[in-house]
Amino acid sequence: MVGPTRFCKVTVFDGSGAPGFVADVEIDGDRIVTVGSATGVEADEIEGSGLALAPGFVDVHTHDDLAVMTQPDHGCKTLQGVTSVVVGNCGMSAAPVSDDPLGFSRYPRLADYLRQVEAAGPAVNVGALVGHGTVRAAVMGLKSDRVPDDRERAAMIEHVAAALEDGALGMSSGLAYEPGRYAAHDELVDLAEVVAAAGGVYTTHMRDEGRDLIGSIEESIAVSEATGVALQISHLKASGRDAWGTTAAALAVIDAARHRGVDVMADQYPYTRGSTLLEQIVGAGALDGPSAFAHVQPADLLIAAAPGNPHWEGRTIEEIAADEGVGGRQMADRIVEAEGRNCFVIIDSMSEDDVREVIRHPAVMTGSDGVPGGSKPHPRLHHTYPRVLGHYSRDEGLLELADAIHRMTGMCADRFGFADRGAIRPGAFADLVLFDPETIIDTGTYTDPTTVPEGIRGVWVNGERVVADGAVTGARPGRVIRRPEGQ
Ligand SMILES: [Zn+2]
Repeated sequence: MVGPTRFCKVTVFDGSGAPGFVADVEIDGDRIVTVGSATGVEADEIEGSGLALAPGFVDVHTHDDLAVMTQPDHGCKTLQGVTSVVVGNCGMSAAPVSDDPLGFSRYPRLADYLRQVEAAGPAVNVGALVGHGTVRAAVMGLKSDRVPDDRERAAMIEHVAAALEDGALGMSSGLAYEPGRYAAHDELVDLAEVVAAAGGVYTTHMRDEGRDLIGSIEESIAVSEATGVALQISHLKASGRDAWGTTAAALAVIDAARHRGVDVMADQYPYTRGSTLLEQIVGAGALDGPSAFAHVQPADLLIAAAPGNPHWEGRTIEEIAADEGVGGRQMADRIVEAEGRNCFVIIDSMSEDDVREVIRHPAVMTGSDGVPGGSKPHPRLHHTYPRVLGHYSRDEGLLELADAIHRMTGMCADRFGFADRGAIRPGAFADLVLFDPETIIDTGTYTDPTTVPEGIRGVWVNGERVVADGAVTGARPGRVIRRPEGQ
């Protein structure tokens, strides 16, 4: 058991978006006890003058499903101030068992997966979505491009209902990926109805983030309008040159829907490059013309992870092709053949203006979309939060600090149903991050992405310190966050 800790004269950002204020904060056990003046109780003291104390960041968009067990210290996230992660995004979850594009669906039920997470004891709290693509692949196979029949439809509904019963926060879809791309409106509505009835959230990696961005937003909103489900658009962006400049119109569609009462929000990672599975990019025809991933060239694709050929990591497909004496298009096929679903690439795909347009929108929160694996993962895996706070908030002045913090804490906890988290107030869980607002900054680049961000002084999860001065402590106090039944 941890004794009481007192943060003395810290600038408290309570996660609500309200301006910071100087106070003493005391924690005891797994909770925040007081916010205000010190009680005089015996406690370890941490001098906080000039430092900001915020609720631990809630990473609403991750692919950490297995990484929280294989790397339970989870330094890639805790070292940037993250204390909770939402897994199971983009239609792909660890349960039920299926042949999904990430190859990590190996648990019959979400309850089995969540018990394994508890047994592994990660440093961060973990909440899970059930993936529509995983469910569809389990029932119909990965390659089935037709409408489900009545039996299949019922089986999919049963899987989603079971996951919600097990504590899923909601359902994700990945409509740019196989098999999500084969799903039509009615199928999504049937499943989203089940999610809505349980009070869950429906997150979606939309069908097309390029030339049909607007149509894809309209498609997503239509699912919410038909069912009342809370809709979260994942990693909102305009992907590919053909789509640049369309984010203002895209946000206007979201605003119009919100105005008529549709519960739609979005998340974003703060970079102009994306990252995804090479196999899916090639399969969607993105190297041959406009696609769900826009139209990309071999020179635009940087290998992030190729575990069978680590010498490819950090190089573009064009560079690798030149070495091998083949064309870029042919090289992409060869890499897919060699690496299959293990190969992730980084794609230069967005405009800075669009990233700035999205980051300021009042319904947009931060989510890393980090993909653990390989030696050159997209720097968003290690650096998303310090980049928003240091680069976009402090240096570029796009967001007030309190607002930027709100979009990584209170807004996220509310959206995903995390009770007593994402806030600094007496009684809330002591998930906290102590940082220097003058120096916090991301340090990772596309060629050197796994560095430690600067300015994070300490991170606490359920009252236990998991980060001290740029290093993990080895404590692993994370818990599984289940959506309570009937909430
Ligand atoms: Zn995605």
